[in-house]
Amino acid sequence: MAVLEQGLQDYLLPIGDEWVRTEKIDTIRLPYDGSPVATVAQGDPALVHRAARAARQAAAVLENWSNFERAEFLDRIAALLRRDHAAVACLISLETGKPISEARVEVDRGLQTLLASSIVARGLHGEVVPIDGAAIGAGRMAMTIRQPLGVIGIITPFNVPLNLALHKLGPALAGGNAVVHKPSEQTPLSALKLAELIREAGAPAGTYNVVTGLGETVGRALVECPEIDMITFTGSVETGRAIRARAGLKKVTLELGGNSAVIIEPDADLDAAVTRVVQGGYGFSGQICISVQRVYVHQSVATEFRGKLVAAVEKLRVGHPGEDSTQIASLISEQAARRVESWTQEAAHAGAKVLTGGNRTNSTIHPGVLADVPEDSAFMKNELFGPLVAVNGYDNLDDAIRLVNGTPYGLQAGIYTQHLQRAFQAARKLRAGGILINDVPTFRADHMPYGGTKNSGLGREGPRYAIEEMTEPKLICWRVG
Ligand code: NAD
Repeated sequence: MAVLEQGLQDYLLPIGDEWVRTEKIDTIRLPYDGSPVATVAQGDPALVHRAARAARQAAAVLENWSNFERAEFLDRIAALLRRDHAAVACLISLETGKPISEARVEVDRGLQTLLASSIVARGLHGEVVPIDGAAIGAGRMAMTIRQPLGVIGIITPFNVPLNLALHKLGPALAGGNAVVHKPSEQTPLSALKLAELIREAGAPAGTYNVVTGLGETVGRALVECPEIDMITFTGSVETGRAIRARAGLKKVTLELGGNSAVIIEPDADLDAAVTRVVQGGYGFSGQICISVQRVYVHQSVATEFRGKLVAAVEKLRVGHPGEDSTQIASLISEQAARRVESWTQEAAHAGAKVLTGGNRTNSTIHPGVLADVPEDSAFMKNELFGPLVAVNGYDNLDDAIRLVNGTPYGLQAGIYTQHLQRAFQAARKLRAGGILINDVPTFRADHMPYGGTKNSGLGREGPRYAIEEMTEPKLICWRVG
Protein backbone atom coordinates (compact mmCIF):
# COMPACT_ATOMS: atom_id res chain seq x y z
CA MET A 1 0.00 0.00 0.00
CA ALA A 2 1.19 3.49 -0.87
CA VAL A 3 0.85 4.56 2.73
CA LEU A 4 3.32 1.94 3.94
CA GLU A 5 6.04 2.68 1.41
CA GLN A 6 7.88 4.93 3.86
CA GLY A 7 9.14 1.86 5.74
CA LEU A 8 9.97 1.51 9.43
CA GLN A 9 11.64 4.61 10.81
CA ASP A 10 13.21 4.94 14.23
CA TYR A 11 12.09 8.12 16.07
CA LEU A 12 14.10 9.78 18.86
CA LEU A 13 12.91 12.45 21.29
CA PRO A 14 13.62 16.14 20.57
CA ILE A 15 14.69 17.59 23.94
CA GLY A 16 16.79 20.76 24.20
CA ASP A 17 19.21 20.65 21.27
CA GLU A 18 19.44 16.84 21.22
CA TRP A 19 17.63 13.85 19.75
CA VAL A 20 17.42 11.59 22.78
CA ARG A 21 17.61 7.79 22.58
CA THR A 22 15.95 5.79 25.38
CA GLU A 23 16.24 2.22 26.60
CA LYS A 24 12.55 1.50 26.15
CA ILE A 25 11.18 1.56 22.62
CA ASP A 26 7.53 1.48 21.48
CA THR A 27 6.34 0.05 18.19
CA ILE A 28 3.62 2.11 16.55
CA ARG A 29 1.19 0.00 14.51
CA LEU A 30 -1.37 0.77 11.84
CA PRO A 31 -4.67 0.40 13.74
CA TYR A 32 -6.39 -1.05 10.67
CA ASP A 33 -4.38 -4.30 10.57
CA GLY A 34 -1.72 -4.08 13.29
CA SER A 35 1.22 -3.86 10.89
CA PRO A 36 4.26 -2.06 12.40
CA VAL A 37 4.93 1.42 10.97
CA ALA A 38 7.65 2.92 13.21
CA THR A 39 9.57 2.55 16.43
CA VAL A 40 9.64 5.40 18.92
CA ALA A 41 11.81 6.12 21.94
CA GLN A 42 9.66 5.98 25.07
CA GLY A 43 9.99 8.88 27.48
CA ASP A 44 9.81 8.87 31.29
CA PRO A 45 9.30 11.40 34.09
CA ALA A 46 13.03 12.25 34.28
CA LEU A 47 12.94 13.28 30.61
CA VAL A 48 9.91 15.46 31.28
CA HIS A 49 11.92 17.43 33.83
CA ARG A 50 14.91 17.65 31.49
CA ALA A 51 12.63 18.90 28.70
CA ALA A 52 11.04 21.47 31.01
CA ARG A 53 14.48 22.86 31.99
CA ALA A 54 15.45 23.10 28.31
CA ALA A 55 12.15 24.84 27.55
CA ARG A 56 12.76 27.35 30.36
CA GLN A 57 16.04 28.35 28.70
CA ALA A 58 14.35 28.71 25.32
CA ALA A 59 11.56 30.77 26.89
CA ALA A 60 14.16 33.30 28.06
CA VAL A 61 15.13 33.81 24.40
CA LEU A 62 11.65 33.72 22.89
CA GLU A 63 10.19 36.31 25.27
CA ASN A 64 12.54 38.87 23.74
CA TRP A 65 11.45 38.18 20.16
CA SER A 66 9.29 40.89 18.64
CA ASN A 67 5.79 40.16 17.35
CA PHE A 68 7.29 40.30 13.86
CA GLU A 69 9.96 37.70 14.63
CA ARG A 70 7.41 35.30 16.15
CA ALA A 71 5.08 35.71 13.18
CA GLU A 72 7.89 35.14 10.68
CA PHE A 73 8.96 32.03 12.62
CA LEU A 74 5.40 30.62 12.42
CA ASP A 75 5.30 31.43 8.70
CA ARG A 76 8.55 29.49 8.19
CA ILE A 77 7.12 26.46 10.02
CA ALA A 78 4.03 26.67 7.78
CA ALA A 79 6.18 26.82 4.63
CA LEU A 80 8.07 23.67 5.71
CA LEU A 81 4.84 21.87 6.57
CA ARG A 82 3.50 22.79 3.12
CA ARG A 83 6.68 21.40 1.54
CA ASP A 84 6.33 18.10 3.48
CA HIS A 85 2.53 17.94 3.17
CA ALA A 86 2.40 14.47 1.56
CA ALA A 87 4.84 12.86 4.03
CA VAL A 88 3.08 14.31 7.07
CA ALA A 89 -0.33 13.18 5.77
CA CYS A 90 1.10 9.67 5.38
CA LEU A 91 2.36 9.66 8.97
CA ILE A 92 -1.02 10.81 10.31
CA SER A 93 -2.77 8.07 8.35
CA LEU A 94 -0.31 5.44 9.56
CA GLU A 95 -0.51 6.30 13.24
CA THR A 96 -4.27 6.96 13.47
CA GLY A 97 -5.61 4.62 10.77
CA LYS A 98 -7.39 7.69 9.33
CA PRO A 99 -8.21 7.45 5.60
CA ILE A 100 -5.41 9.19 3.68
CA SER A 101 -7.86 11.69 2.13
CA GLU A 102 -8.85 12.86 5.63
CA ALA A 103 -5.21 12.94 6.75
CA ARG A 104 -4.48 15.36 3.89
CA VAL A 105 -7.33 17.57 5.10
CA GLU A 106 -5.79 17.53 8.59
CA VAL A 107 -2.52 18.90 7.20
CA ASP A 108 -4.46 21.62 5.31
CA ARG A 109 -6.21 22.50 8.54
CA GLY A 110 -2.87 22.58 10.36
CA LEU A 111 -1.65 25.15 7.85
CA GLN A 112 -4.73 27.27 8.61
CA THR A 113 -4.00 27.04 12.33
CA LEU A 114 -0.41 28.20 11.77
CA LEU A 115 -1.63 31.07 9.58
CA ALA A 116 -4.13 32.16 12.26
CA SER A 117 -1.34 31.93 14.87
CA SER A 118 1.00 34.06 12.77
CA ILE A 119 -1.74 36.68 12.40
CA VAL A 120 -2.34 36.86 16.15
CA ALA A 121 1.41 37.04 16.76
CA ARG A 122 1.63 40.11 14.49
CA GLY A 123 -1.28 41.81 16.24
CA LEU A 124 -0.59 40.87 19.87
CA HIS A 125 -1.15 43.96 22.01
CA GLY A 126 -2.18 45.22 25.41
CA GLU A 127 -4.44 48.20 25.98
CA VAL A 128 -4.51 51.74 27.29
CA VAL A 129 -5.99 51.77 30.81
CA PRO A 130 -8.01 54.93 31.62
CA ILE A 131 -6.30 55.11 35.00
CA ASP A 132 -7.43 58.68 35.79
CA GLY A 133 -11.06 57.50 35.79
CA ALA A 134 -10.62 57.19 39.55
CA ALA A 135 -9.55 60.11 41.77
CA ILE A 136 -6.44 58.23 42.86
CA GLY A 137 -5.31 57.99 39.23
CA ALA A 138 -5.15 61.77 38.59
CA GLY A 139 -1.90 62.77 36.93
CA ARG A 140 -1.12 59.22 35.83
CA MET A 141 -1.24 57.25 32.59
CA ALA A 142 -1.31 53.46 32.26
CA MET A 143 -1.17 50.66 29.73
CA THR A 144 -0.90 46.90 29.67
CA ILE A 145 1.49 44.79 27.64
CA ARG A 146 0.96 41.04 27.10
CA GLN A 147 3.75 38.83 28.34
CA PRO A 148 4.30 35.09 27.79
CA LEU A 149 3.60 32.69 30.66
CA GLY A 150 6.92 30.91 30.00
CA VAL A 151 6.69 27.14 29.52
CA ILE A 152 3.46 25.56 28.29
CA GLY A 153 2.77 21.83 28.81
CA ILE A 154 0.72 20.34 25.99
CA ILE A 155 -1.16 17.02 26.24
CA THR A 156 -3.02 15.79 23.15
CA PRO A 157 -5.31 12.86 22.18
CA PHE A 158 -4.97 10.29 19.40
CA ASN A 159 -7.59 11.46 16.95
CA VAL A 160 -6.24 14.67 15.37
CA PRO A 161 -2.56 14.44 16.31
CA LEU A 162 -1.15 17.22 14.11
CA ASN A 163 -3.81 19.91 14.09
CA LEU A 164 -4.70 19.65 17.78
CA ALA A 165 -1.00 19.96 18.65
CA LEU A 166 -0.79 23.04 16.39
CA HIS A 167 -3.86 24.54 18.10
CA LYS A 168 -1.74 24.67 21.24
CA LEU A 169 1.75 25.10 19.83
CA GLY A 170 0.80 27.90 17.38
CA PRO A 171 -0.63 30.33 19.97
CA ALA A 172 2.03 29.31 22.53
CA LEU A 173 4.81 30.36 20.12
CA ALA A 174 2.84 33.42 18.99
CA GLY A 175 2.80 34.53 22.61
CA GLY A 176 6.55 33.95 23.09
CA ASN A 177 6.40 30.69 25.10
CA ALA A 178 8.38 27.45 24.86
CA VAL A 179 6.63 24.07 24.93
CA VAL A 180 6.87 20.53 26.30
CA HIS A 181 4.46 18.22 24.46
CA LYS A 182 3.18 14.79 25.55
CA PRO A 183 1.37 13.38 22.51
CA SER A 184 -0.93 10.36 22.68
CA GLU A 185 1.06 7.15 23.16
CA GLN A 186 -0.92 5.77 20.21
CA THR A 187 -0.07 8.61 17.78
CA PRO A 188 3.27 10.34 18.51
CA LEU A 189 4.71 10.35 14.96
CA SER A 190 3.35 13.62 13.58
CA ALA A 191 4.56 15.52 16.68
CA LEU A 192 8.07 14.08 16.23
CA LYS A 193 8.03 15.08 12.55
CA LEU A 194 6.79 18.55 13.52
CA ALA A 195 9.79 18.88 15.85
CA GLU A 196 12.11 18.35 12.86
CA LEU A 197 10.35 21.12 10.95
CA ILE A 198 10.46 23.50 13.90
CA ARG A 199 14.21 23.01 14.27
CA GLU A 200 14.68 23.54 10.55
CA ALA A 201 12.66 26.78 10.85
CA GLY A 202 15.37 28.16 13.16
CA ALA A 203 13.95 27.57 16.65
CA PRO A 204 16.22 28.31 19.63
CA ALA A 205 17.22 25.00 21.31
CA GLY A 206 14.46 23.78 23.65
CA THR A 207 11.60 25.68 21.97
CA TYR A 208 9.57 22.54 21.26
CA ASN A 209 10.34 19.37 23.21
CA VAL A 210 8.42 16.12 22.81
CA VAL A 211 8.29 13.44 25.51
CA THR A 212 6.39 10.31 24.50
CA GLY A 213 4.90 7.75 26.88
CA LEU A 214 1.87 6.85 28.92
CA GLY A 215 -0.52 9.36 30.43
CA GLU A 216 -0.35 7.96 33.95
CA THR A 217 3.45 8.34 34.12
CA VAL A 218 4.74 10.88 31.58
CA GLY A 219 1.50 12.90 31.35
CA ARG A 220 1.22 13.01 35.12
CA ALA A 221 4.86 14.10 35.50
CA LEU A 222 4.21 17.00 33.09
CA VAL A 223 1.11 18.08 35.02
CA GLU A 224 3.00 18.01 38.32
CA CYS A 225 6.30 19.48 37.05
CA PRO A 226 7.06 22.80 38.84
CA GLU A 227 8.85 24.21 35.75
CA ILE A 228 5.59 24.14 33.74
CA ASP A 229 3.46 27.29 33.92
CA MET A 230 0.32 26.07 32.18
CA ILE A 231 -1.23 22.80 31.03
CA THR A 232 -3.37 22.83 27.91
CA PHE A 233 -5.11 19.50 27.46
CA THR A 234 -7.35 17.95 24.83
CA GLY A 235 -8.80 14.52 25.55
CA SER A 236 -11.45 12.68 27.51
CA VAL A 237 -13.46 14.04 30.45
CA GLU A 238 -12.01 11.38 32.77
CA THR A 239 -8.41 12.43 32.02
CA GLY A 240 -9.37 16.11 32.18
CA ARG A 241 -10.68 15.63 35.72
CA ALA A 242 -7.48 13.84 36.81
CA ILE A 243 -5.33 16.63 35.33
CA ARG A 244 -7.31 19.42 36.96
CA ALA A 245 -7.11 17.67 40.32
CA ARG A 246 -3.30 17.40 40.11
CA ALA A 247 -2.35 20.68 38.47
CA GLY A 248 -2.28 22.69 41.71
CA LEU A 249 -2.03 26.42 40.96
CA LYS A 250 -1.02 25.99 37.31
CA LYS A 251 -3.27 27.52 34.72
CA VAL A 252 -5.27 24.75 33.00
CA THR A 253 -7.42 24.71 29.87
CA LEU A 254 -9.38 21.59 28.96
CA GLU A 255 -10.89 20.65 25.60
CA LEU A 256 -12.94 17.55 26.36
CA GLY A 257 -15.44 15.18 24.83
CA GLY A 258 -19.00 15.44 23.56
CA ASN A 259 -21.99 13.54 22.17
CA SER A 260 -23.14 16.22 19.78
CA ALA A 261 -26.66 16.46 18.44
CA VAL A 262 -28.48 18.09 15.55
CA ILE A 263 -32.20 18.94 15.32
CA ILE A 264 -34.02 18.54 12.00
CA GLU A 265 -37.20 20.66 11.85
CA PRO A 266 -40.05 19.74 9.44
CA ASP A 267 -39.17 22.58 7.03
CA ALA A 268 -35.48 21.56 6.77
CA ASP A 269 -33.79 20.80 3.46
CA LEU A 270 -33.53 17.05 4.11
CA ASP A 271 -31.08 16.30 1.30
CA ALA A 272 -28.67 19.00 2.49
CA ALA A 273 -29.00 17.75 6.07
CA VAL A 274 -28.33 14.11 5.07
CA THR A 275 -25.19 15.10 3.13
CA ARG A 276 -23.80 16.95 6.13
CA VAL A 277 -24.85 14.30 8.72
CA VAL A 278 -22.90 11.75 6.67
CA GLN A 279 -19.83 14.02 6.63
CA GLY A 280 -20.23 14.94 10.32
CA GLY A 281 -21.20 11.53 11.70
CA TYR A 282 -18.90 9.21 9.80
CA GLY A 283 -15.73 11.26 9.14
CA PHE A 284 -12.77 9.40 10.71
CA SER A 285 -15.30 6.73 11.75
CA GLY A 286 -16.96 9.16 14.17
CA GLN A 287 -13.77 9.58 16.23
CA ILE A 288 -14.07 13.36 16.37
CA CYS A 289 -15.13 15.26 19.48
CA ILE A 290 -17.88 17.12 17.55
CA SER A 291 -18.99 14.11 15.51
CA VAL A 292 -22.77 13.90 14.97
CA GLN A 293 -23.90 11.21 17.39
CA ARG A 294 -27.57 12.07 17.97
CA VAL A 295 -30.06 13.31 15.37
CA TYR A 296 -33.49 14.51 16.58
CA VAL A 297 -35.83 14.68 13.61
CA HIS A 298 -39.43 15.93 13.61
CA GLN A 299 -41.84 12.95 13.46
CA SER A 300 -43.50 14.31 10.29
CA VAL A 301 -40.27 13.85 8.28
CA ALA A 302 -38.57 11.11 10.30
CA THR A 303 -39.29 8.19 7.94
CA GLU A 304 -38.17 10.15 4.89
CA PHE A 305 -34.99 11.39 6.64
CA ARG A 306 -34.05 7.90 7.88
CA GLY A 307 -34.55 6.41 4.40
CA LYS A 308 -32.29 9.00 2.79
CA LEU A 309 -29.64 8.67 5.51
CA VAL A 310 -29.54 4.85 5.32
CA ALA A 311 -29.17 5.02 1.51
CA ALA A 312 -26.25 7.48 1.80
CA VAL A 313 -24.51 5.54 4.62
CA GLU A 314 -24.72 2.29 2.67
CA LYS A 315 -22.72 3.95 -0.12
CA LEU A 316 -19.73 4.74 2.17
CA ARG A 317 -16.65 2.84 1.02
CA VAL A 318 -14.99 0.73 3.74
CA GLY A 319 -11.35 -0.25 3.23
CA HIS A 320 -7.63 0.23 3.88
CA PRO A 321 -6.76 3.77 5.07
CA GLY A 322 -4.04 4.10 2.44
CA GLU A 323 -6.48 3.84 -0.47
CA ASP A 324 -7.62 7.17 -1.90
CA SER A 325 -11.20 5.94 -2.25
CA THR A 326 -11.59 4.74 1.38
CA GLN A 327 -14.07 6.65 3.53
CA ILE A 328 -14.28 4.31 6.54
CA ALA A 329 -11.17 2.44 7.76
CA SER A 330 -10.78 1.39 11.40
CA LEU A 331 -11.14 2.71 14.91
CA ILE A 332 -7.97 3.41 16.87
CA SER A 333 -7.93 -0.15 18.29
CA GLU A 334 -9.85 -3.39 18.33
CA GLN A 335 -10.68 -2.68 21.98
CA ALA A 336 -12.37 0.59 20.96
CA ALA A 337 -14.29 -1.25 18.22
CA ARG A 338 -15.45 -3.90 20.70
CA ARG A 339 -16.75 -1.16 23.03
CA VAL A 340 -18.74 0.49 20.21
CA GLU A 341 -20.09 -2.92 19.16
CA SER A 342 -21.23 -3.70 22.70
CA TRP A 343 -22.96 -0.32 23.18
CA THR A 344 -24.73 -0.87 19.86
CA GLN A 345 -25.88 -4.36 20.85
CA GLU A 346 -27.02 -3.11 24.27
CA ALA A 347 -29.06 -0.35 22.60
CA ALA A 348 -30.64 -2.92 20.25
CA HIS A 349 -31.58 -5.16 23.21
CA ALA A 350 -33.16 -2.15 24.89
CA GLY A 351 -35.42 -1.54 21.88
CA ALA A 352 -33.37 0.46 19.31
CA LYS A 353 -33.81 -0.54 15.66
CA VAL A 354 -30.55 -1.09 13.77
CA LEU A 355 -31.48 0.19 10.28
CA THR A 356 -28.09 -0.63 8.78
CA GLY A 357 -24.47 -1.47 9.75
CA GLY A 358 -22.99 -1.59 13.23
CA ASN A 359 -21.20 -4.92 12.76
CA ARG A 360 -17.47 -5.28 13.45
CA THR A 361 -14.52 -6.76 11.56
CA ASN A 362 -11.38 -6.64 13.76
CA SER A 363 -10.91 -2.90 14.52
CA THR A 364 -13.38 -1.71 11.87
CA ILE A 365 -17.01 -0.89 12.64
CA HIS A 366 -19.22 -0.85 9.56
CA PRO A 367 -21.07 2.48 9.34
CA GLY A 368 -24.53 2.27 10.81
CA VAL A 369 -27.81 4.04 11.55
CA LEU A 370 -30.01 3.32 14.57
CA ALA A 371 -33.56 4.52 15.23
CA ASP A 372 -35.59 4.98 18.43
CA VAL A 373 -32.56 4.56 20.66
CA PRO A 374 -33.48 4.73 24.39
CA GLU A 375 -32.23 8.02 25.85
CA ASP A 376 -30.81 6.26 28.90
CA SER A 377 -28.65 3.82 26.90
CA ALA A 378 -24.84 4.06 26.96
CA PHE A 379 -25.04 4.74 23.21
CA MET A 380 -26.90 8.05 23.81
CA LYS A 381 -25.53 9.14 27.20
CA ASN A 382 -21.79 8.68 26.58
CA GLU A 383 -19.38 9.69 23.87
CA LEU A 384 -19.65 6.91 21.25
CA PHE A 385 -16.56 7.67 19.08
CA GLY A 386 -17.74 5.28 16.36
CA PRO A 387 -19.33 5.48 12.86
CA LEU A 388 -22.95 5.18 14.01
CA VAL A 389 -25.68 7.77 14.33
CA ALA A 390 -28.92 7.55 16.34
CA VAL A 391 -32.01 9.08 14.69
CA ASN A 392 -34.83 9.67 17.19
CA GLY A 393 -38.15 11.41 16.50
CA TYR A 394 -39.73 14.35 18.37
CA ASP A 395 -43.07 16.19 18.31
CA ASN A 396 -42.20 19.77 19.24
CA LEU A 397 -39.04 21.87 19.20
CA ASP A 398 -38.94 22.43 22.96
CA ASP A 399 -38.82 18.67 23.49
CA ALA A 400 -35.97 18.36 20.99
CA ILE A 401 -34.00 21.13 22.72
CA ARG A 402 -34.56 19.42 26.08
CA LEU A 403 -33.22 16.14 24.63
CA VAL A 404 -30.16 17.81 23.08
CA ASN A 405 -29.44 19.53 26.41
CA GLY A 406 -30.11 16.40 28.49
CA THR A 407 -26.46 15.34 28.63
CA PRO A 408 -23.46 16.36 30.73
CA TYR A 409 -21.66 17.43 27.54
CA GLY A 410 -21.98 20.71 25.61
CA LEU A 411 -19.43 21.14 22.83
CA GLN A 412 -21.47 22.15 19.75
CA ALA A 413 -25.04 21.59 18.53
CA GLY A 414 -26.86 22.14 15.24
CA ILE A 415 -30.37 22.92 14.00
CA TYR A 416 -31.80 22.68 10.49
CA THR A 417 -34.77 24.98 9.78
CA GLN A 418 -35.71 27.70 7.28
CA HIS A 419 -37.48 29.60 10.09
CA LEU A 420 -35.13 32.35 11.26
CA GLN A 421 -36.88 33.13 14.51
CA ARG A 422 -37.11 29.50 15.62
CA ALA A 423 -33.44 28.97 14.69
CA PHE A 424 -32.28 31.88 16.85
CA GLN A 425 -34.61 30.96 19.72
CA ALA A 426 -33.10 27.47 19.67
CA ALA A 427 -29.57 28.90 19.42
CA ARG A 428 -30.18 30.80 22.68
CA LYS A 429 -31.63 27.79 24.50
CA LEU A 430 -29.18 25.09 23.37
CA ARG A 431 -26.40 24.65 25.93
CA ALA A 432 -23.17 24.27 24.00
CA GLY A 433 -20.03 26.24 23.18
CA GLY A 434 -21.09 26.71 19.54
CA ILE A 435 -24.43 26.53 17.67
CA LEU A 436 -24.60 25.80 13.94
CA ILE A 437 -27.72 26.87 12.05
CA ASN A 438 -28.45 24.80 8.94
CA ASP A 439 -25.34 22.77 9.57
CA VAL A 440 -24.10 19.89 11.70
CA PRO A 441 -22.16 20.50 14.96
CA THR A 442 -19.04 19.08 13.31
CA PHE A 443 -18.20 22.40 11.60
CA ARG A 444 -14.98 24.03 12.79
CA ALA A 445 -12.93 26.77 11.15
CA ASP A 446 -9.55 26.89 12.84
CA HIS A 447 -9.64 30.59 13.75
CA MET A 448 -13.07 30.57 15.40
CA PRO A 449 -13.59 30.38 19.19
CA TYR A 450 -13.98 26.72 20.00
CA GLY A 451 -14.66 24.92 23.27
CA GLY A 452 -17.30 23.45 25.50
CA THR A 453 -19.73 24.17 28.29
CA LYS A 454 -20.56 21.74 31.12
CA ASN A 455 -18.26 18.66 31.07
CA SER A 456 -16.98 19.46 27.57
CA GLY A 457 -14.29 21.80 28.78
CA LEU A 458 -12.81 24.96 30.23
CA GLY A 459 -11.46 27.77 28.07
CA ARG A 460 -11.58 28.35 24.33
CA GLU A 461 -9.24 27.47 21.48
CA GLY A 462 -8.69 29.19 18.15
CA PRO A 463 -5.35 31.08 18.20
CA ARG A 464 -6.92 34.50 18.89
CA TYR A 465 -8.60 33.06 22.03
CA ALA A 466 -5.90 30.59 23.13
CA ILE A 467 -3.26 33.34 23.12
CA GLU A 468 -5.23 35.17 25.80
CA GLU A 469 -4.78 32.11 28.03
CA MET A 470 -1.08 31.70 27.16
CA THR A 471 -0.05 35.29 27.85
CA GLU A 472 -0.84 37.58 30.76
CA PRO A 473 -1.35 41.31 30.95
CA LYS A 474 1.30 43.34 32.77
CA LEU A 475 0.32 46.82 33.93
CA ILE A 476 2.73 49.71 33.38
CA CYS A 477 1.65 52.93 35.10
CA TRP A 478 3.52 56.23 35.10
CA ARG A 479 3.14 59.68 36.66
CA VAL A 480 2.84 62.52 34.20
CA GLY A 481 1.91 65.37 36.48
P1 NAD B 1 -7.43 10.39 26.59
O1 NAD B 1 -8.03 11.28 27.61
O2 NAD B 1 -7.42 8.92 26.86
O3 NAD B 1 -5.89 10.77 26.34
C1 NAD B 1 -5.52 12.06 25.95
C2 NAD B 1 -4.09 12.33 26.36
O4 NAD B 1 -4.02 12.38 27.79
C3 NAD B 1 -3.10 11.25 25.92
O5 NAD B 1 -1.90 11.87 25.52
C4 NAD B 1 -2.89 10.45 27.19
O6 NAD B 1 -1.68 9.76 27.24
C5 NAD B 1 -2.94 11.54 28.23
N1 NAD B 1 -3.27 11.09 29.60
C6 NAD B 1 -3.99 10.00 29.97
N2 NAD B 1 -4.05 9.92 31.32
C7 NAD B 1 -3.36 10.99 31.81
C8 NAD B 1 -3.08 11.47 33.12
N3 NAD B 1 -3.52 10.83 34.20
N4 NAD B 1 -2.36 12.61 33.25
C9 NAD B 1 -1.92 13.29 32.16
N5 NAD B 1 -2.15 12.87 30.89
C10 NAD B 1 -2.86 11.74 30.72
O7 NAD B 1 -8.15 10.70 25.20
P2 NAD B 1 -8.02 9.95 23.80
O8 NAD B 1 -8.73 8.64 23.87
O9 NAD B 1 -6.63 10.00 23.31
O10 NAD B 1 -8.84 10.97 22.85
C11 NAD B 1 -10.22 10.94 22.71
C12 NAD B 1 -10.88 12.00 23.57
O11 NAD B 1 -10.41 13.30 23.23
C13 NAD B 1 -12.37 12.05 23.33
O12 NAD B 1 -13.02 12.19 24.57
C14 NAD B 1 -12.55 13.28 22.48
O13 NAD B 1 -13.82 13.89 22.53
C15 NAD B 1 -11.52 14.18 23.05
N6 NAD B 1 -11.23 15.26 22.10
C16 NAD B 1 -11.66 16.52 22.38
C17 NAD B 1 -11.42 17.55 21.46
C18 NAD B 1 -11.85 18.97 21.73
O14 NAD B 1 -11.32 19.86 21.07
N7 NAD B 1 -12.75 19.22 22.64
C19 NAD B 1 -10.74 17.28 20.28
C20 NAD B 1 -10.33 15.97 20.03
C21 NAD B 1 -10.57 14.96 20.96
